[in-house]
Amino acid sequence: MKTLKDFNFKNKKAIIRVDFNVPLNNEFQVTDITRIQAAKSTITEILAQGGSCVLISHLGRPKGFQEAFSLQHIVKSVEAVLNCNVKFVADCVGTKATDAVADLAPGEVVLLENLRFYEEEKKGDVAFAEKLSKLGDIYVNDAFGTAHRAHASTTIIAQFFEDNKCFGNLLSREIESIDKVLNNSEKPVLAILGGAKVSSKITVIENILDKVDHLIIGGGMSFTFVKALGGKIGNSICEDDKMELALEILKQAKAKGVEVHIPVDVIAADDFSNDANTQTLDINEIPEGWEGVDAGPKSRANFDAVVNACKTILWNGPLGVFEMEAFAGGTIALGHSIDRATKNGAFSLVGGGDSVAAVKQFGFADKVSYVSTGGGAMLEMLEGKTLPGIEAILK
Ligand code: AMP
Repeated sequence: MKTLKDFNFKNKKAIIRVDFNVPLNNEFQVTDITRIQAAKSTITEILAQGGSCVLISHLGRPKGFQEAFSLQHIVKSVEAVLNCNVKFVADCVGTKATDAVADLAPGEVVLLENLRFYEEEKKGDVAFAEKLSKLGDIYVNDAFGTAHRAHASTTIIAQFFEDNKCFGNLLSREIESIDKVLNNSEKPVLAILGGAKVSSKITVIENILDKVDHLIIGGGMSFTFVKALGGKIGNSICEDDKMELALEILKQAKAKGVEVHIPVDVIAADDFSNDANTQTLDINEIPEGWEGVDAGPKSRANFDAVVNACKTILWNGPLGVFEMEAFAGGTIALGHSIDRATKNGAFSLVGGGDSVAAVKQFGFADKVSYVSTGGGAMLEMLEGKTLPGIEAILK
């Protein structure tokens, strides 16, 4: 696996695919700089060696050139994070881009305009990728969030660099963290899967059954299992057409020696709202008119014991409707359990969508070992897929 350490960037121009797909408010100000901060380590390391950086990224989903999606809006934020001047170029290919790159001196940074202003980017157009490739001596991919897309700048471009390509620090950390959970893990290994639907996590479950010793199934998706096992779930969310599959998963888990933990009690609400009436119930005894919205106290205690008995922990998906304060307790309790396990030496990885939002919201982001920056990309890796953006560098 080639990383920055394999190159000397002195007097070299690095073309770096970053993920600067940051949220903007109505005044086009960046409201969350996390993704820019995530790319900092790669950029500053290259600059410190006397190299220069050509930054390429997408922003949002523009249809052709749309001012609202211009990366011009983020230049000040990038400068603030990197603590240096960043020259903006209003195109990512063509003479504007080639001229700016030709003038680039060691230690300088340019940011090119949104790649997705060209439909060739998402189509993985080879000619477009070749034009981009002329803008640097070494290609560095540091955009985990788009590594599962075979786009021109994330994948196709790599073929024009033969040996002169590598992973940036962020992407290599992402790969190492997932590898630490799936392949080089210290046992016992635990995966916690929560969230709304079984259907969106089936392939993940099937793949990780071969990798883990314990599996916690929580959140909305647990009700499909409970109902399939004969419990009464009232109005809780459930995918009836996945009940067979739920039983099959339990069977497979048993055959593979994986211990599955399902909530035993729930906080049930009489309405899907923060000020609904609530009661704590046995998970198999939820009456009509009530729905399970969070893990109950016994489940939280059971999960705490499992988490703290494990050495490697993967967490994907909340244990309840954490967006509503009244139903966030189970997810917060799990955060505390993982925090304690991590302090006691476990490796903990949080990734793939809503659980990342939850750990940030409840202040656990720096208490776990690693928080992944890629939602879809992370889920695909957990499904056992090789991501095109990663494969292109390894080739
Ligand atoms: P996912 O994107 O599949 O990880 O699902 C995350 C969503 O699942 C969040 O928006 C949660 O509010 C939701 N969720 C978790 N538990 C429940 C539940 N018991 N009932 C309904 N939605 C839930």
